[in-house]
Amino acid sequence: MDTDYYELLEVSRSATADEIKRAYRRRARELHPDANPGDPDAEAMFKMVAMAYETLSDPERRQRYDRFGPEGANQGGGPGFGGGLGDLFETFFGGNPFGGGAASGPPRGADLEVVLDLSFEEAVFGTEAPVTVRTAVPCDDCEATGAAPGTTAATCSECGGLGQVRRVRQSLLGQMVTAGACTRCGGAGTIIESPCATCRGDGRIVEERTYTVDVPAGIDTGSTLRLTGRGAVGSRGGAIGDLYVHVRARPHDRFVRHGYDLAHELHLSMTQAALGAHLAFETLDGTEDLVVPAGTQSARIFRLRGRGVPHIEGRGRGDLLVQVMVDTPAGLSADEEAMLRQFAEMRGEEVAPSDVGFLAKIRSAFK
Ligand code: ZN
Repeated sequence: MDTDYYELLEVSRSATADEIKRAYRRRARELHPDANPGDPDAEAMFKMVAMAYETLSDPERRQRYDRFGPEGANQGGGPGFGGGLGDLFETFFGGNPFGGGAASGPPRGADLEVVLDLSFEEAVFGTEAPVTVRTAVPCDDCEATGAAPGTTAATCSECGGLGQVRRVRQSLLGQMVTAGACTRCGGAGTIIESPCATCRGDGRIVEERTYTVDVPAGIDTGSTLRLTGRGAVGSRGGAIGDLYVHVRARPHDRFVRHGYDLAHELHLSMTQAALGAHLAFETLDGTEDLVVPAGTQSARIFRLRGRGVPHIEGRGRGDLLVQVMVDTPAGLSADEEAMLRQFAEMRGEEVAPSDVGFLAKIRSAFK
């Protein structure tokens, strides 16, 4: 996402510092995770808006942004994105809604994992596949607050709503300050006196959810796709985790995949190899002519360019490698054997003598 900072804040490029501050407060309220529970797009936009404000509220960085763009704005002094974000929330909302850090605000929800089984072709050409997970979703009855409808959670008297308590103690080295999760509210910053009956005060319920995974062409077993914001929601309005989709592709009955190339072993008769053949060969894209020239040796590889697997990033496809294996004819009839002996004689090739008596004995033994 490469979006203009002024557009993100919905102000003109000549906006005053005060206008930018007011615009940021308005945008942040609209997009705040508490106002949009379970909406990863709003959360992403919220972070972008915060980043835009962080830059445009600093005259020096704003000037660099105007001249050089976002990269320029982050060069030289001043904290980068991330460093100042928590402070901004402290300033405007009295808490960091993204969790993280040492227990301030409701904890972020768990990341979830799921295995997605695909057919060989689905992995090669890409697909849209549903995955179903048991996950925590915001409780509608209490709007994820955990407090019974009509009531609100009280600010924790122990930590004053920060979710964190600082303890000061004297040590040999002087005064030491440690910060830890508030034990009274468990870091949430609020105490629920009458919990929501539906979610028992957790602010979320467990449900099965089905999401559609956009599987890119060229993926293979062992790849993992991350669906941001499709994990479990945190308790009492905590941020949403991510969903990790582990891909497993079934093998093909004719092709073996080597990265982006496909391999196939094709058996040819001795006469096809010696005299040449035009074969109808089934690729993943349909039937193609495979021309085997006369005099083809066993183990020769024919390369069908661009008939392999699409590259997962960028353009182009791998190749389909067809390796021919020449089968020696066996179980010859008497006529066939006679012809081959004649052939060998014409070529002056040394072959084992015919053992008609021996063969006849074996044949009669099986009758
Ligand atoms: Zn509830």
